[in-house]
Amino acid sequence: MKDILTVFGSKTFDQKKMRERLRKETYESLMKTINEGAPLDASIADEVAQAVKEWAIENGATHYTHWFLPLTGIPAEKHDSFLDVSGSEVILKFKGKNLIKGEPDASSFPSGGLRKTANARGYTIWDPSTPIFLKEDANRVVMCIPTVFLGYHGEALDRKIPLLRSLNALDIQGKRFLKMFGIKTVKKVSSTIGPEQEYFLVDHELYKMREDLMMTGRTLFGNIPSKHQQTEECYFAPISLRVAGFMKDINNELWSLGITAKTDHNEVAPAQHETAPIFASSSVGADQNMILMDALKRMAIKNDLVALFHEKPYNGVNGSGKHNNWSITTNTGLNLTDPGDEPHKNLLFLLTLACIVKAVDENALYLRLSASVPGNDFRLGANEAPPAIISIYLGDQIANVVEQIIKTGKATYSVQGSTLDLNIPSIAPIKADCTDRNRTSPFAFTGNKFEFRMVASSSCIAECNTALNVVVASEFKNACDALENSKNFEEDAMKYIAKTLKEHQRVIFNGDGYSEEWKEEAKRRGLPNVRTYCEAISAITDPKTVEMFEAMHVLNSKELHARSEIMYENYSQTKDIEAQTAIHMVLKQYIPAVRSYALDVANEIKSFSELSSVSLNYQKSHLDTVLALINEACDKVELLKSTLAKARECEDSKEKAYLYKDLVCDAIEKVRKPIDELENIVDKDYWPVPSYQDLMFEV
Ligand code: ADP
Ligand code: MG
Repeated sequence: MKDILTVFGSKTFDQKKMRERLRKETYESLMKTINEGAPLDASIADEVAQAVKEWAIENGATHYTHWFLPLTGIPAEKHDSFLDVSGSEVILKFKGKNLIKGEPDASSFPSGGLRKTANARGYTIWDPSTPIFLKEDANRVVMCIPTVFLGYHGEALDRKIPLLRSLNALDIQGKRFLKMFGIKTVKKVSSTIGPEQEYFLVDHELYKMREDLMMTGRTLFGNIPSKHQQTEECYFAPISLRVAGFMKDINNELWSLGITAKTDHNEVAPAQHETAPIFASSSVGADQNMILMDALKRMAIKNDLVALFHEKPYNGVNGSGKHNNWSITTNTGLNLTDPGDEPHKNLLFLLTLACIVKAVDENALYLRLSASVPGNDFRLGANEAPPAIISIYLGDQIANVVEQIIKTGKATYSVQGSTLDLNIPSIAPIKADCTDRNRTSPFAFTGNKFEFRMVASSSCIAECNTALNVVVASEFKNACDALENSKNFEEDAMKYIAKTLKEHQRVIFNGDGYSEEWKEEAKRRGLPNVRTYCEAISAITDPKTVEMFEAMHVLNSKELHARSEIMYENYSQTKDIEAQTAIHMVLKQYIPAVRSYALDVANEIKSFSELSSVSLNYQKSHLDTVLALINEACDKVELLKSTLAKARECEDSKEKAYLYKDLVCDAIEKVRKPIDELENIVDKDYWPVPSYQDLMFEV
């Protein structure tokens, strides 16, 4: 491997390459767009296209694609070669118009009814905020141009448009907000994110033998091995040779793609890992997280492994999440979510905090939804991840300042961290943070940022960051409306902070989010505890949410309703695929295998009884148990088939999703039970698929 600095960004058309390859005026105009959000000057497109084409071809690219984030959950690409014909000559062509605009078929992507099959026209438009990058597979290099995706009438059909609009709203309201504090020179207010990505690795050959992993991303059957995560030795454990080889490849790939991969470690469950980059602006960070997931998949395959992003690949051990670290920052380097050493004196931080607390309390259900996909239901509230109840952890220092403000209308001191001295001369004393960490909170303040911890590992984080940006921008607006014309700003702001914190203190919780008591307490406080994704979907079409989205110009009512349609459909499809896979596996793999086993046992019993007078009661009773479990499995498959038929018949997307949630999910679990019992008593040589032990420990 070359050194990091040589590798870093080598596959991106980054600012350095733009400076080298573009005229000065073009470069400066583009930088203004990228760094300050100034309108893109379309007249520079041809020059940029020419420069980026030359660079890409020098680096082996034969194709280009508009790369975008449709509402499917994974990035979309359509590869066009640079090849063109001019008269009788073959040439390589890539013009400004190819850079700026593409025309994919909008009706082939989820649109929630916004696009009918016959109305196919859709557009992709270049988003210069994320650098153009090269994706290399099997020596085939494709130049990827990050774009937004919309329908013929301008309707947003992707996850990037709302994210960019939410950032715009945060910028507008953020600048207004800062102006009240006399800060007028800021050109851009934005949010920055550092997503920690968890994933599992599994041997590729074994993976191919598990239809459930291939079709659904998770195991639908299987028992946890005798040793899994009980001893807590996996977390931060030394990395195995095979995984280390993979991590070397993945870091090299991520660095070359300009992603600041920083941290790698083993996670709580066997074969579970995490990678985290250094934080970046949310539009770049959200794209880069999708690029990172794609790179993890590709590098895993290169190492005969498969990367699993499902929130719960294995029953009985921890699942995966994506901790979305989020803060509000300016182009001048100011972090509004940084309390400094004396938070009680930091009015800007306190007003920001009050707005965030209110925004989170008032939009709890929508935030819960924004962090979720169907698979997250297995994690939230299962004592391995935050509960489905949204609350904020502030830590000792900030909680104390908030308490002072609520009680007396002002805060007069900030608790400081103690010095930790072990009294071992060779070990240096250190200053402890003012605040502990809390891993049970869905939304935890961690020093100078919030960590949204409930986010699903497979989700596209443009969703949760759109949510955070829009709810906070909307609260900034409320604060500005109330305080902008104040004659006595500091006093009025403090009153506003005290009132807001008092009214929304119910959402602040510094205790153990995993405990049963918290569920009771949250209920008393009136906080929503919505256990399933399906039930949370209604939050996005709640009139309050719609009003906020429209006021912030992020999405309109029609677009939000379309998105809820897509979510219901996606939920039903996810569960339908799981159900169908379970039926296949039982009928085509498990039952035939167990039948052969049972027949061999029966023949054995027959042979034994001819040759021996010893009682065969144990063998016979074992055979009875096996046959009874086959019967039970067949019964449960029939039940699953009938619930599936019922759900499929339903035409209303919401009702349908609820049928899958209420009937099909339960029926899938019922099919699992006899099969898992059989796995424990049937000879392993007969078992048709790799066990959990094989999957988790052969990495
Ligand atoms: P943890 O100890 O929570 O596991 P990690 O070091 O794994 O922390 O990840 C923390 C993430 O938070 C990193 O991606 C880091 O760059 C990011 N981060 C740090 N400061 C900020 C900030 N101000 N805004 C957003 N993200 C931040
Ligand atoms: Mg971490």
